[in-house]
Amino acid sequence: MFFSVREMEARKLEFETSFRPGEIEFVGKQLRQRGDLQVSGSAEWIEATGEIRVRGRIKGQFEADCDRCLEPVLFPADTCFDLFYRPVDQEASRSEREIDSGEAEIGYYEGEGLELEDIVREQVLLTLPLQWVCMEDCKGICPVCGQNRNTTCCNCKTVAVDDRWSALRNF
Ligand SMILES: [Zn+2]
Ligand SMILES: [Zn+2]
Repeated sequence: MFFSVREMEARKLEFETSFRPGEIEFVGKQLRQRGDLQVSGSAEWIEATGEIRVRGRIKGQFEADCDRCLEPVLFPADTCFDLFYRPVDQEASRSEREIDSGEAEIGYYEGEGLELEDIVREQVLLTLPLQWVCMEDCKGICPVCGQNRNTTCCNCKTVAVDDRWSALRNF
């Protein structure tokens, strides 16, 4: 779905749509979308500043492998967003830009407008955890026999590696 400035000049755009798994590619972490991703909201062009404001909500479910035991972990994503996008060319004309904390909320658009898919991809990745673990105390996979330690007690002897000197070796 494309929000064109020309269209938004005439009116605010309301949208309600859904994306099937695979329609938006989520890179990294082998993230899998489960079921439809619901996206609704509005997009408007602010004449005074040339900015595009997009507000909305994303709802869906994602799955990735547990970082420790590799079992699939489900993560519900439900996030609201309120974003401002500035035209790139306007920004380029300002040689030195002051960076304050508020700037982080502002994105940029190029040319005729914005693609909803790009916004959704970015917002979803921001919502999801950096670490995927199936449970707080997941025991992970045994490095010796490769079994899932949450479900089996393999009794392998693992030698604790003394890592105190590795930091010094880097000097
Ligand atoms: Zn796990
Ligand atoms: Zn083992």
